[in-house]
Amino acid sequence: MRTVPANSRRGPALDIAVVGGGMVGAAAALALSRAGFSTALLEARPPTPWNAENELDLRVVGLAPSSIALLDDLGVWTSIRNARACPYAHMHVWDAENGAAIDFDAASEGRDLLGYIVENNLVQWMLWQSLEASGVRRLCPAIVKDFESRPDRITLDLADGESVAVRLLIAADGAGSPLRERASIATHGRDYAQRAIVAHVATERVHAHTAWQRFLPTGPLALLPLADGRSSVVWSLPEAEARRVQSLDDEAFLQELGIASDFRLGRIIATTPRAAFPLKLQLADTYQAERFVLLGDAAHTVHPLAGQGVNLGLRDVAELRDTLVAAREQGRDIAATHVLRRYARRRRSADTFDAYAFDTLARVYAWQTPPLVAARGLGVQLLNRLAPLKRRIATHAAGF
Ligand SMILES: Cc1cc2nc3c(=O)[nH]c(=O)nc-3n(C[C@H](O)[C@H](O)[C@H](O)COP(=O)(O)OP(=O)(O)OC[C@H]3O[C@@H](n4cnc5c(N)ncnc54)[C@H](O)[C@@H]3O)c2cc1C
Repeated sequence: MRTVPANSRRGPALDIAVVGGGMVGAAAALALSRAGFSTALLEARPPTPWNAENELDLRVVGLAPSSIALLDDLGVWTSIRNARACPYAHMHVWDAENGAAIDFDAASEGRDLLGYIVENNLVQWMLWQSLEASGVRRLCPAIVKDFESRPDRITLDLADGESVAVRLLIAADGAGSPLRERASIATHGRDYAQRAIVAHVATERVHAHTAWQRFLPTGPLALLPLADGRSSVVWSLPEAEARRVQSLDDEAFLQELGIASDFRLGRIIATTPRAAFPLKLQLADTYQAERFVLLGDAAHTVHPLAGQGVNLGLRDVAELRDTLVAAREQGRDIAATHVLRRYARRRRSADTFDAYAFDTLARVYAWQTPPLVAARGLGVQLLNRLAPLKRRIATHAAGF
């Protein structure tokens, strides 16, 4: 697959290199290639082939309508939906401390559904399947060790000694982004000192195509509907408590999960093995450097309570594509500082707003003093009755 030519005297042979082939990087490479830019995708680890016979990937995401629209535009959504995706039309969120609940219902928003729950691996795999047909040059496995920017190009050095020269380097290399570090872009945020335990569980009652979320004093517990009738658990807990719950045998885990979920779906009958992910809020101080931009988790990592991480990343993709297409139409260098700054400013302010909104929600639900718990309950009950405000929240979460 090593077919990317290195430097030529007439400038770089390729317009764009995307580093990181997760859901966001693969979507970016496909979107930019479809928009007519010559594009390479460099990824350290080959994606795991998705197969309908395989057990569901433990990592799932709730895709908002804006993400579905982008994937549809890229020609991959129908394959994802037909493979294994669960639509959900309701969301029920309730507070373990005061019982206050809020409901979101697609029909009352004039829509058929609020989103789909899909496996990360399925989305990534379908995107990768389309990359080759779109002419994206895939280098995998390829680890980018270093890069250097010059006035007319940016040169990437790979671990195997090869180099690739392009006009623009896009880092979609995840929350730990080695490229962000190499570009000396600092981050800020906070460590939630929590872990999210994930597992797929069978429950006594049907999930009713509803995303259930209960806020407990220890953190939120979500039960997300899966295509095979089970539910995906995302249970955020303080570090020590997460370690304890992880060490329980299955029977004790099922029992504790049933209590934590208030038996809303009845008894929890069976579980897959569990995995745990550390949670943090992290925002890059800038999304841009010379001939270089960040997107996806490399730019922002948010608390999963709103299920928006990859949705924000896919909004970065759409914005970057539109910005680069507009620059090309105006005859500008796609990696000119003012072009990249336009993308960076827009997405960074939108992502910052959302990241801190989710953070505020996490903080408010962590209140435990009785007057504050009561005030929170009153606020949520009031919000649940304010249809116009609820509609604005739902429209924002949908990405419109
Ligand atoms: C428990 C949990 C629940 C979540 N639920 C939701 C949800 O419901 N909805 C939602 O929208 N989001 C959710 N998220 C967030 C979502 O999973 C992430 O935002 C998303 O996976 C990030 O994708 P990415 O492509 O930006 O990064 P990644 O998936 O991390 O991909 C980065 C890629 O870069 C590659 N890479 C790294 N360094 C290099 C290098 N030097 N050279 C080459 N390749 C490299 C890696 O191998 C990797 O494949 C959740 C997250 C967690 C932890």
